[in-house]
Amino acid sequence: MQGVAIYPGSFDPITLGHVDIIERGLKVFDHIIVAIAVNTSKVAAFSDVDRLHMIEESFAHDRRVSVVSFQGLLVDFARQQEAVAVLRGLRAASDFEYEFQMAAMNRRLNPDLETVFMTSRSTHTFISSTLIREVSAMRGDVSEFVPEVVLKYIAKRYA
Ligand code: ADP
Repeated sequence: MQGVAIYPGSFDPITLGHVDIIERGLKVFDHIIVAIAVNTSKVAAFSDVDRLHMIEESFAHDRRVSVVSFQGLLVDFARQQEAVAVLRGLRAASDFEYEFQMAAMNRRLNPDLETVFMTSRSTHTFISSTLIREVSAMRGDVSEFVPEVVLKYIAKRYA
């Protein structure tokens, strides 16, 4: 497959699970736009700007990855960006129900946009942004689970 894929999410913060999906996505797509959803009902722990910078710094070496924030409907944003697909990661069966519903809804909203799922590497299945925040808040060491550049943002946020 070729073309641009959008990888949407909260990335609050980006983890090595996300990095793995992006790196594997680049074997299939020419370019990946990591799209940070900024107007969801979720209250983020990290600011929109920090979430953007953490991803940009994690992929500073790779021009095939760009990072943007977006508001509104993903299908509209994907159309503007001329993306052929939405990329999502699946960690476990528990991710499936929600992902399946969202893919079905997005297909109704824009039949031209495909959703492509990549399964998590077995060593990354347990990594989630939620757990990273919980462990960080209790001063646990998360250096094995996030890109190195993220650690300074975590130190600042949970100082
Ligand atoms: P959202 O808030 O939309 O679920 P996330 O930032 O939590 O966004 O995740 C974005 C995407 O990355 C989702 O498709 C999610 O399933 C996937 N993902 C998150 N963590 C991992 C992981 N450890 N391995 C593989 N995919 C993951």
